[in-house]
Amino acid sequence: MAANILVVGGGPGGASCAYWLARNGLDVHLVEKKTYPREKACGDGLTPRAIKQLLDMGFDFDSLDLHRVDGLRAYAGDLKIEMPWPEHSIYPNWGATMRRADLDGIVAGLAETEGATVEQGTTAMPILEDDKVVGVTLSRDDEERTVHPDFVVIADGSNSRFGRGVGASRRKDYPYGLAVRAYYTSPLSMDPFIESQLDIRDKEGNAMPGYGWVFPLGDGEINIGAGLVSTFKGWKDVNTSHILDAYIHSLPDHWKVTDVTPHTKPIGGKLPMSLSVGPKVGRNWMLVGDASGAVNPFNGEGIDYAYETGRMAATHLADAATGNEDALANYVTALDDAYGDYHRVARVFVKAIGNPMVMRSLTTVGLRSQSLMEWTLKVMANLLDPDEARMSEHIYNAIERTVNVRK
Ligand SMILES: Cc1cc2nc3c(=O)[nH]c(=O)nc-3n(C[C@H](O)[C@H](O)[C@H](O)COP(=O)(O)OP(=O)(O)OC[C@H]3O[C@@H](n4cnc5c(N)ncnc54)[C@H](O)[C@@H]3O)c2cc1C
Repeated sequence: MAANILVVGGGPGGASCAYWLARNGLDVHLVEKKTYPREKACGDGLTPRAIKQLLDMGFDFDSLDLHRVDGLRAYAGDLKIEMPWPEHSIYPNWGATMRRADLDGIVAGLAETEGATVEQGTTAMPILEDDKVVGVTLSRDDEERTVHPDFVVIADGSNSRFGRGVGASRRKDYPYGLAVRAYYTSPLSMDPFIESQLDIRDKEGNAMPGYGWVFPLGDGEINIGAGLVSTFKGWKDVNTSHILDAYIHSLPDHWKVTDVTPHTKPIGGKLPMSLSVGPKVGRNWMLVGDASGAVNPFNGEGIDYAYETGRMAATHLADAATGNEDALANYVTALDDAYGDYHRVARVFVKAIGNPMVMRSLTTVGLRSQSLMEWTLKVMANLLDPDEARMSEHIYNAIERTVNVRK
């Protein structure tokens, strides 16, 4: 009998996994505890890597009122640098912004079109025996039922109660982020550049640990957010809402934000990074997306990696469904092949910039050239071309040396 697969969570990781499983002809049932359109704390920023995954899933960019993004604007001290997304042989040279409340339901709908069953408003919890999920309790309103899938894909996001229920946990020595966002009105909502700021000051001009972003949504609103990483000195004592406040009050004038009252209450969330959660697989389950800690430590992006890990998990599950007993272990190897080296360098980088002196010297001295910034963007957004990737070890070593020298 054909294997049946349960996907827990209908964010980017779960929806992409369900899409690729269904497209491979597998019997897939996705459960999402909320109902679309559902809010998700996010910058709503889609990098070229995310766009590539959406294009591959047949996402119809043309019929939607989606805001295209040409590149990133960043600041190095008082210098403002605009960097277009690089030309790449695999990824498009454009990104976008789109509210997660709209995006995630559409992608789940693509999975449904391919044949997946999508059940909303349903919470899943595991029944575990010897590292095997022998059943899953599905709760919907006041009703409860138990299903017995052959395999379970755990894509329940950064809180990952289901993941913890099967024994997965986060490595505490790996970086970890917290971020918060809110929506504001700006006449510059059509700006084709997303913007980031690594140097945030409080009212007295003192440096604050953390970073900020402005992602224009093209509909009169902008998404403003702030975050910080666990490698930043004193991070546990810093409230992300205070960083957001400080950032909004020192926002560059060109955004023309006259009313600093957000339209909706700011909401925040966790950013588990560098594939810090494990084990990634058990006897019949696998972790994808934030549940596996897939966020890129360099820049806090996780939508693209959730799509990518969901797709990789689907490939290996299709293999497992044909009886290959090594297929789940092969997923772990594939993750390491795809991201291992990159994350090793990213961890060194975020550890180094956690030191305010290193951060200051990078933003005021180290990165004050357009070409160096463009290279930095390519590395931070994981957009080195395969040709350049052959040189990646040298590039990564150079970054490692640069941040170590500045410590
Ligand atoms: C403030 C903030 C800003 C961010 N900005 C960006 C950005 O601009 N660009 C970017 O690329 N990344 C960004 N990220 C990261 C990005 O949001 C995540 O990496 C991404 O959402 C991960 O997708 P996922 O599918 O793994 O998890 P999620 O998107 O969290 O989806 C998990 C889903 O599982 C459901 N679920 C949970 N438990 C259960 C259960 N037991 N049963 C059924 N369903 C369940 C949840 O309701 C949810 O819908 C940001 C994160 C934060 C916190």
